[in-house]
Amino acid sequence: MRRIIDTHMHMGDIYHENLNVVFKKPFQYDYRPYPDVFEDLGEIGYSKPLVVPDEKRHNQLIDAAQNHDWERGGLQAAISAMEYSGITYAVNLPILPGHGFEDALAITKLYPNILCFTCPDFELPVEEMVKKLKKDIVRGAKGLKLHPIINNISPRDERLHAAMEVFGDLGLPITSHCGINDYYKKDSPHFKKTNKEYGALYYVLEWIEKYPDFIFIPAHCGGFSGGEMDELSNAVKTHGWKNVYVETSMRGREDIEKMIDLFGEDKVMFGTDNPSTPYYYSLECVLEATKHDPELQEKVLYRNAAKLLYL
Ligand SMILES: [Zn+2]
Repeated sequence: MRRIIDTHMHMGDIYHENLNVVFKKPFQYDYRPYPDVFEDLGEIGYSKPLVVPDEKRHNQLIDAAQNHDWERGGLQAAISAMEYSGITYAVNLPILPGHGFEDALAITKLYPNILCFTCPDFELPVEEMVKKLKKDIVRGAKGLKLHPIINNISPRDERLHAAMEVFGDLGLPITSHCGINDYYKKDSPHFKKTNKEYGALYYVLEWIEKYPDFIFIPAHCGGFSGGEMDELSNAVKTHGWKNVYVETSMRGREDIEKMIDLFGEDKVMFGTDNPSTPYYYSLECVLEATKHDPELQEKVLYRNAAKLLYL
């Protein structure tokens, strides 16, 4: 049987707006009351850019993502989506304040095939934050998720570096959102409390340069404003970095083929960003990109991630 690990999924509402929706019943619309940019892009195999410089379109993207968190971000919906697509394990990446490690751990206890990372609680003093992260590892956190935009923290802030050192020193993976995207519409009270520039790839490149031995997974293969995949790959080649992994979330077949070429077949992992994007379109793109080589397919869908997660 085919084994699949989704290395990039979320549970519940990762925005500040609705907070805990994980244990609530999935919300079901009778009809789709919003333009679903993610669904439309999935249908065409992500062959067009997700992020475009158009405010109306970007607002539609934010609306769709928030609606998806309600509809598909709950536990019940996640479990049936995983079953439908045959996902063996999914890695839940918590982001405070909407979804923290305790929620993620509770889910793992109920469904051991939904593994989890943890995330720093920046409201704690730095020593407490570090202590908590170490405790999270003992309790089952498989890695660290960072999201400087949603947490509104500069990637150069020493607290981020302290958090990374906890995981990096133990050989556990660190992933961070990459991509300069707005997460709130201009009329949201949260808009001014986030800085999308914090998603710029060059910050992550600075981290990797500082910590070349740490295992880094720059999310979305560096971002999707255009050109990030090449930028990341050039940096990896120039510096000879050995510990940079990439994942396939919201990438189409061509991008995935290119990713395998640039980073090598041992460094590419399946990722979806469910519930923003459903499993089936992303899976279809990976299956297409790797259909000529069953061993490569197994590496991308399972083995590369299984190694990092010590499964
Ligand atoms: Zn994500």
